[in-house]
Amino acid sequence: MYDYQAAENLLQDKIILVTGAGDGIGRAAALSFAAHGATVILLGRTEAKLNQVYDEIEAAGYPQAAIIPLNLEMATDTDFDRLAALLEEEFGRLDGILHNASLLGLRTPIESYDPITWQQVMQVNVNSTFMLTQALLSLTNASADASIIFTSSGVGRTGKAFWGAYAVSKFATEGLMQVLADELDHNPNIRVNAINPGATRTNMRASAYPAENPESNPTPEEIMPAYLYLMGRDSRGTTGKSIDAQ
Ligand code: NDP
Repeated sequence: MYDYQAAENLLQDKIILVTGAGDGIGRAAALSFAAHGATVILLGRTEAKLNQVYDEIEAAGYPQAAIIPLNLEMATDTDFDRLAALLEEEFGRLDGILHNASLLGLRTPIESYDPITWQQVMQVNVNSTFMLTQALLSLTNASADASIIFTSSGVGRTGKAFWGAYAVSKFATEGLMQVLADELDHNPNIRVNAINPGATRTNMRASAYPAENPESNPTPEEIMPAYLYLMGRDSRGTTGKSIDAQ
């Protein structure tokens, strides 16, 4: 996947929503999708970071982006319905969703894991992802070629000590992806997959591995081929899969 070469205009005229678009992998994906022709809807909790990405997209001359400031930990189904109505009015459809925003939570044993943090992690990583997907399905169904991408992790496939709610949330994400992919399998115009980015040079990785030399991992920009592949037409027909970006 690392060596996939995306056509320059791969995402021309596509409308794509990216969560956690202000930083790390989400930021790189938003910029990369825009560079390949997409109108990107930047959703995240820190407006200043979203503004920065918006400005970068504008300065590069890519299609004008849109900003949706939203804290996924607090958001309710009413917020998601409102967002869907807004997008319906503005665009009438959605060709892609990258569910990327996540919380790391604590790196502690289950025995001492703080239950409040557990709920926060599950709320952002799983519950809000479900609610957002549900609210936006009529918009992705209106697309002639839509891709929904969830973000997994190695610890979402094999449980590992001290990864707590984060690991459990990523198992749930894989489950949500599989259930939805199976439900939509009859529709060739929509595919549902997951990406495991692998160790990538971001703030989250630095929090999880404070002693690691950040330079030892690829940058978010370097893992974009897998994101472009799943978002673009070359992955048409691929659904229900969990792929590695590295
Ligand atoms: P970062 O922490 O660098 O970025 C996460 C983004 O999600 C930030 O923009 C953050 O916003 C946003 N976010 C977090 N909580 C919320 C919330 N409540 N509401 C809205 N937005 C929120 O993480 P990465 O870029 O490293 O991770 C991206 C994805 O990749 C995640 O799903 C992660 O689990 C996964 N992943 C990453 C790996 C890695 O090595 N980096 C490895 C495996 C998986 P803000 O900027 O305001 O903090």
